[in-house]
Amino acid sequence: MKAIVVHEFGGPEVLHFEEIATPAPSAGQVLVRINAAGVNPYDTYMRAGTYAIKPTLPYIPGSDGGGVVESAGKGVEKFVPGDRVYVGRTISGAYAQFAVALESQVHPLPTNVSFAQAAGVWVPYGTAYHGLRQCGGARPGDTVLIHGASGGVGIAAVQIARASGLTVIGTAGTEKGRELVLREGAHHVFDHTRPGYLEQIMDATSGKGITVILEMLANVNLGHDLKLLALNGRVVVIGSRGDVTISPRDLMTRRGSIRAFTLWAITEAEEKEIHAAVFAGLENGTLRPIVGKQLPLAEAARAHKEILEPGAFGKIVLLP
Ligand code: NAP
Repeated sequence: MKAIVVHEFGGPEVLHFEEIATPAPSAGQVLVRINAAGVNPYDTYMRAGTYAIKPTLPYIPGSDGGGVVESAGKGVEKFVPGDRVYVGRTISGAYAQFAVALESQVHPLPTNVSFAQAAGVWVPYGTAYHGLRQCGGARPGDTVLIHGASGGVGIAAVQIARASGLTVIGTAGTEKGRELVLREGAHHVFDHTRPGYLEQIMDATSGKGITVILEMLANVNLGHDLKLLALNGRVVVIGSRGDVTISPRDLMTRRGSIRAFTLWAITEAEEKEIHAAVFAGLENGTLRPIVGKQLPLAEAARAHKEILEPGAFGKIVLLP
């Protein structure tokens, strides 16, 4: 099969497009023909060797993909060849024509969702759901700020929040991104590159502040977020690319809190809840993964450069 293989940590140039042996599923495992693989920012940190999780070299990147079950190992009960599925983590890596995964990492895909969309399900929707509901505790009637709403996680959060009865405020750095955020369900959208936008956000809440902030770039925004919180408000740190200074008094006066997580560390029960909620949302059309760009698998290096550039528009996916 064709696959992207990383033999040493480094820049995007270490992503090699190679012909390697197709893996075979052992007992309890499923072999999935990957029709589309999702590109997430963490794929780039892992490739660079700077991420908390360092895979054993050589490795095939990618945890997200959409495709069809090719074969199933002994003891697999839920899947048969031909089933449409999405994967949320794999054993062998998703940037490939085939991937082996544990049965528990494979999930049924509703027929109204394309394979390219399926590649944008696990990390974006899992993170958005966990951040908003399980970690942030957002409830219908609350106001949420999705600080960085135009990318994979942001668009997922906008859709989940809107379908859950929240007042949704999003931010994006381009006109195209802001149009997308509004189209996907935000009540208000602001430009996070423009001076004065934080005051505009506060005005949009009539001065009451925000109940839950989902923060995609905490090293830039965390200190400002605290000043936007309503009484008992929470900032959920999802993304951060450096250090930041905050004024704890901003939290004290608002009885506020900062929460944070990585999707790798959620519990089995939380993961089960996420897949059930996401399947229902995909099936009833309230969750609609947005594929902004599709590139051939061989262009994985380009995808790794572009995912870190400003001007996000949903997901970048690779087609094996
Ligand atoms: P993405 O698709 O690349 O989107 C990045 C988002 O950040 C875009 O909406 C971008 O907006 C926005 N952004 C850029 N500058 C910003 C600023 N100054 N203030 C607020 N937002 C800004 O990435 P993603 O998949 O959505 O992931 C977002 C972040 O969360 C990444 O850092 C990722 O590593 C992290 N993450 C963490 C977990 C976890 O388990 N904790 C899981 C998934 C992702 P414009 O491009 O429109 O400016």
